[in-house]
Amino acid sequence: MQFRDLKEQYNVLEKDINKAIQSVLSKCNFISGDEVGELEELLAEYVGIKHCVTCGNGTDAMSMMMMAWDIHEGDAVFVPDFTFFSSGEIVAHAGAVPVFYDVELETYNADINSLENAIRLVIEEGNLRPRAIIAVDLFGLPANYTDLERLAEKYNLRILEDSAQGFGGKIGVKRAGSFGDAATTSFFPAKPLGCYGDGGAIFTNDDETAKYLRSIAVHGKGKVKYDNIRIGMNSRLDTLQAAILKVKLEAFKRYELYNVNKIAEMYNERLKDIVTLPVTPEGFYSSWAQYTIQLNSSGQREKLQQYLRKHNIPTAVYYIKPMHSQLAFSRNKEYVECKNTEKLCNTVLSLPMHPYLSEKDCDFICMNIKRCLLDS
Ligand SMILES: *Cc1c(COP(=O)(O)O)cnc(C)c1O
Repeated sequence: MQFRDLKEQYNVLEKDINKAIQSVLSKCNFISGDEVGELEELLAEYVGIKHCVTCGNGTDAMSMMMMAWDIHEGDAVFVPDFTFFSSGEIVAHAGAVPVFYDVELETYNADINSLENAIRLVIEEGNLRPRAIIAVDLFGLPANYTDLERLAEKYNLRILEDSAQGFGGKIGVKRAGSFGDAATTSFFPAKPLGCYGDGGAIFTNDDETAKYLRSIAVHGKGKVKYDNIRIGMNSRLDTLQAAILKVKLEAFKRYELYNVNKIAEMYNERLKDIVTLPVTPEGFYSSWAQYTIQLNSSGQREKLQQYLRKHNIPTAVYYIKPMHSQLAFSRNKEYVECKNTEKLCNTVLSLPMHPYLSEKDCDFICMNIKRCLLDS
């Protein structure tokens, strides 16, 4: 059994993917081929945002927004303590200070009170200029943007939606990628919509921002490539990846997103009295980048993980460490305590989750979880 079965996905889509790749090979338009622009239009339409600018990966996408908003030394950007390293790394990379805030135990997303405390403490201290909130759609569930936008307005901050894991999620009819002042996503192979290498995208309604992003993606180009009007970077989605993503987006829209939600329901039903389940609030829809349960202790988690491994069931721990405990951030000041994150790092376990997981496999996983936790 696979944790995320990319081979099975390829088996199903093989004919179309091979055809798409072959078409790029025959044209040899490897950089900025037609498929890139076509994909950007499809993505913008799906998310419901005016501009989609693709780039090299999800980390670059966020870095490019730090540049677009001119975030630099002396600025504070608020980042969840429970997330992938990138979400904070790009802030430090811009020369600014990531200030970590806690998440909720139920949704794994922003704890609004913790975030507001962090903002207040930074303002009271007066050393840093609060500029932006990074909100992460962790494990596929959109963060609570109603509350986040209220805070952002109150303290005059921008919101960057880190939707690397959230593509396909929704609040009501509004899609992930359309929240905040701009949003980014990643097409790393294991993400909800993944390509066959690295890839990323930025979503914005702002014409000027889109224009700026297209410039910095290609060495700060002006009217033409060899006219350089600012310092930029080299970050593009290549044509092969765009061609592959066009095929995968179709499958994602047709049945993959629906399937992962069915599987999440199966897990919920079978595990509801056994472990702590992930909570999807009323009106929210997840793209299930991960299906993550909580155990009672790190000991119980270790025991379960070993038991499942023995039965050939792969699991993973996202994430083993709070951001504030990462060595790379050891010189950062802690403004608020992040007790929930500390607890989650010791107790979470992500189970196999992908659109091609069968009900039989789901039964087998849940039966083994029950055996391990109930029969001993
Ligand atoms: C994967 C991920 C990123 C970075 O995406 P890459 O394409 O790997 O650079 C950023 N934030 C979160 C929450 C992620 O899961």
